[in-house]
Amino acid sequence: MKQYDLIIVGSGPAGLSASIYARRAEISTLVIEKSPMSGGQIVNTYEVDNYPGIPEISGFDLAMKFRKHSDALGATFVEGDVVQFRVEDQNKYITLGNGDTYRCKAIIIATGAVSRHLNIPGEDRLSGMGVSYCATCDGAFFRNKIVAVVGGGDTALEDAIFLSRLCAKVYIIHRRHEFRAVKSLCSSVEKASNIEVMWNSKVKEIRGEEQVESLLIQNIVTEENNILQINGLFIAIGTVPNSELYRDIVSVDNSGYIIAGEDCRTNVPGIFAAGDIRTKQLKQVITAAADGANAITSVERYFSLI
Ligand code: NAP
Repeated sequence: MKQYDLIIVGSGPAGLSASIYARRAEISTLVIEKSPMSGGQIVNTYEVDNYPGIPEISGFDLAMKFRKHSDALGATFVEGDVVQFRVEDQNKYITLGNGDTYRCKAIIIATGAVSRHLNIPGEDRLSGMGVSYCATCDGAFFRNKIVAVVGGGDTALEDAIFLSRLCAKVYIIHRRHEFRAVKSLCSSVEKASNIEVMWNSKVKEIRGEEQVESLLIQNIVTEENNILQINGLFIAIGTVPNSELYRDIVSVDNSGYIIAGEDCRTNVPGIFAAGDIRTKQLKQVITAAADGANAITSVERYFSLI
């Protein structure tokens, strides 16, 4: 069984930042990544314009910069899905899908989050057949077509703006009468001539034989039902944390986020949570990267105590 002082699970901005700080602190570290150069959720972001010092960059390119930085400092990566996690005294054991087990003294869980589903009829059946959770990945398939985006947060509005540059028409379907997205995105949506917002509306069903053809939409205020003909539906209603494997060991909140403060410490000594997986107010690349740095400071403190 291979042993490291620290194992970082996840290679998004939090995990990669932690790996950079770990290398600088000369901690024996393994980073477990789901797929080669996976980069986390950020790789699906068309444009990141709020990371200081890098005004215009795609999410993919920024993720690759983090990865190259980590590689340059000599971080060790292994590819795999963690299928089991257990704690015995001060040792933590991680088993991958291929059966390999690793032992460590400390672990940083930086596994992020995945797209939330609407859980309505037609969603699973037509997923990949016009239903998408990633506008930057799939938008190009809908060039000059009519699409809809569900949601009212930063992701939904960013997706709508991105799609408005490709598609003939973009509907935003939002369940309330105001967006929660930042003002700059709201004004860009207002300015786009081919974006139409459907307020107080929810999608009840996604219809189509082999491809998405239409949506059954209900106005929540009037309870009136309408059919909207579209070619593609982009669901951008937030994320759920990838914390299933850890929930019986560390404390999580009602939504499954691991309870940890800015120092990334969980209720279990030697287990740390960084990035979107932990309870925090603002989930951004910069706060995830900051978590990586804070987590390593906490790991060093922990090592000095055991
Ligand atoms: P979010 O902020 O949680 O917004 C989710 C949206 O989906 C909300 O408008 C919510 O409606 C709606 N929603 C949730 N469940 C729904 C359901 N079952 N049916 C219909 N609508 C539903 O998620 P997000 O936009 O993915 O953003 C997540 C975090 O990442 C945020 O902190 C955001 O600021 C950040 N982010 C930042 C950037 C950037 O800085 N460039 C880009 C993307 C995301 P209500 O408004 O009614 O709750």
